[in-house]
Amino acid sequence: MTEHGDTRLVDKILKLKQKRNAVILAHNYQLGEVQDIADYSGDSLDLSQKAAKTDADVIVFCGVHFMAETASILCPEKKVLLPDLHAGCPMADMITPDKLRKMKKEHPKATVVCYVNTSAEVKAESDICCTSANAIEVVQSLPEATEILFVPDQYLGQYVSTKTGRPLILWPGFCPTHVRILASDILRLKEEYPKAKVVVHPECRPDVTEIADAVLSTSGICKYARESPETEMIVGTEIGILHRLRKESPQKRFIPVSEQAVCPRMKLITLETVLWTLEEMAHEVKVPEKIRVRAKSAVDKMLQIGSK
Ligand code: SF4
Repeated sequence: MTEHGDTRLVDKILKLKQKRNAVILAHNYQLGEVQDIADYSGDSLDLSQKAAKTDADVIVFCGVHFMAETASILCPEKKVLLPDLHAGCPMADMITPDKLRKMKKEHPKATVVCYVNTSAEVKAESDICCTSANAIEVVQSLPEATEILFVPDQYLGQYVSTKTGRPLILWPGFCPTHVRILASDILRLKEEYPKAKVVVHPECRPDVTEIADAVLSTSGICKYARESPETEMIVGTEIGILHRLRKESPQKRFIPVSEQAVCPRMKLITLETVLWTLEEMAHEVKVPEKIRVRAKSAVDKMLQIGSK
């Protein structure tokens, strides 16, 4: 039961969820009250795998639009609902299919690796998808001499390029939330908490990832917090993750690099909008079949690497 949510609201959601045979998936950046009523919390990769395996008829996706689209790509027979249609990802909006097609014309032999934070149409124009959890493996899976276009996150791309030693042609996209995580704040906190390990997300700027002890996806950060012997961690990602970290490891101390690292689109989803979605069975996110089939090919290639 949620600590923060209204109990009656939660009861209504749970009853309606059962009636609709729905599953509720929540990204690690969602409000704590939303994470608490979810069947599964996780990062994009976890949630897309959960979506692919569920036998529910309805998927309520508490995240942003591209995540609901990814669920629709993988499960066309299910009804995928996004509680608030304004919950989009500004980074995903930084590249359009037209812009990508233009870039491909300039690099006709290149393989396009697209971060999962892209629209279904951009995925359809790409060769293989990746998430922050598997981007290094995805790039390493491509033959050595391959010319690679990496879209849209320049900082994730730069990090992957450094780790793999592979040159990547980058798109100048970025996450407006993660660029608020500053190296100067980390250095200040390290003085205050000298024993704390610094764990950040690869969407952060290079001067931030360079000084971190670990650079991990949100699920990777949760695993690190649960399994490492460290008792203090300075956390550089969207602050919604602190709810899960503190719930899973209550004896440990988690210090956010910046309270400003909030994704406003993720926070549009509340218990009220989740209930509304289940009542109205809206807003449905459905990817047109022609685009879905092409986008699925890029997502499937990624999932195959994950399962090797
Ligand atoms: S945190 Fe950044 S990348 Fe993630 S949904 Fe928000 S804007 Fe997009």
